[in-house]
Amino acid sequence: MKATFRQRLLNDPFGDPCLYVRTAREKGALIFDLGDIRCLSPAELHKISDAFITHTHIDHFIGFDILLRIVLRRDIPLNIYGPSGIIRNVEGKLRGYTWNLIREYPTEINVFGIGSRTVTHALFSAANGFRKIIVDKKPTDGLLLDAPLFTVSAVRLSHGTPCLAYRLDGKQQFNIDKDRLQKRGLSVGPWLTEFKKKIREHGVAGTIPIEGRQYRIRQLMDIVRIDKGPVLSYVTDIAINHKNLSTLISFVEGSDILYCEAYFLEKDRQRAINRFHLTAAECGRIARSANVKKLALMHFSPKYEDSPQLLQEEAAKEFGGEVICEPFQKLRQSSRQRQSF
Ligand SMILES: [Zn+2]
Ligand SMILES: [Zn+2]
Repeated sequence: MKATFRQRLLNDPFGDPCLYVRTAREKGALIFDLGDIRCLSPAELHKISDAFITHTHIDHFIGFDILLRIVLRRDIPLNIYGPSGIIRNVEGKLRGYTWNLIREYPTEINVFGIGSRTVTHALFSAANGFRKIIVDKKPTDGLLLDAPLFTVSAVRLSHGTPCLAYRLDGKQQFNIDKDRLQKRGLSVGPWLTEFKKKIREHGVAGTIPIEGRQYRIRQLMDIVRIDKGPVLSYVTDIAINHKNLSTLISFVEGSDILYCEAYFLEKDRQRAINRFHLTAAECGRIARSANVKKLALMHFSPKYEDSPQLLQEEAAKEFGGEVICEPFQKLRQSSRQRQSF
């Protein structure tokens, strides 16, 4: 069975938080935050269809221009999601360049600004020099994207400015039990792809042709094993307050993996409160309270560059489960030049 997602953090924990997710069977990619994305190859950038931005502090959005340049000749639109101000931010970025030679380009950028109850859709297309067109404004329950194999939803939290947390839910997977297939005298073939598609879209209703004979889908269900889809959550730059924490815990409940900031140590809690960030201990508590399976740490304050293990230990102690932390040695020498918010 192929994994639904293959994901990786692009930078070490002192670098900009940024999660790149390949959607294996759809051959595309999603990205969560657009900070420093220089390590992505042009081919990897080209695959990005949807960018989910938590907020537009510079360490989460400076990579927009790099992505824009790569998708300029692409037929497939680029979709960008973020808190409501993101429409103005994208418009500002686009206005920073001269576009008189691109009117025949196919580029379209859809920007979705998520407010507390509504989502505003703005379109910027090369054909009209990237001038903003407001397409619509609709009520939202937080579901942003409903793709054939997964959904992405968001919740609005506070970081001194609105900040979104995201959750990627893989849909149920239908896997074929090859032994049962053989026992029925059926062979592996392209019909299985069609069969799984029909189950996904219409349940057990209808029939399917196999080697010249019609079969009822209902009667073939014993060859199918239904697996729950994986769940990833991405949370960063969150103020410590009761409303944020309780909203967040129910939002990320049951995630297979939670990517979360661990910006400050608990001993610097007052600083964390003033800067609207989580502590490593709060990050661990969120993961434990939400019954998360694995916790991946990111976005450490440069203050701790000589003792990153303290953040990892503090989060692990509160969580009590498996904590993943990318090696922090490799890029430490350059971390002094970075500024994060
Ligand atoms: Zn940040
Ligand atoms: Zn921030």
